[in-house]
Amino acid sequence: MSKIITIILVTVLVVYLFRRMASERVKPPPSEKKGAVEDMVRCQTCGVNLPRSEALMSKGRFYCCDEHRKSDN
Ligand SMILES: [Zn+2]
Repeated sequence: MSKIITIILVTVLVVYLFRRMASERVKPPPSEKKGAVEDMVRCQTCGVNLPRSEALMSKGRFYCCDEHRKSDN
């Protein structure tokens, strides 16, 4: 009878350890999350932050709109 209890305990322990190992592997790498966030740039005129793809660039500076780009020149 004690043999059965030992087998059950060992089985439970093995399953627990396997689940813990599996859950640790599932964790997504931090670099993947960072890559999804787009670079933010600051408008030289009003200082608003916006994604680089939406910003206007002139002479190495970023602007939120065409009006601010013109007013800074
Ligand atoms: Zn602006």
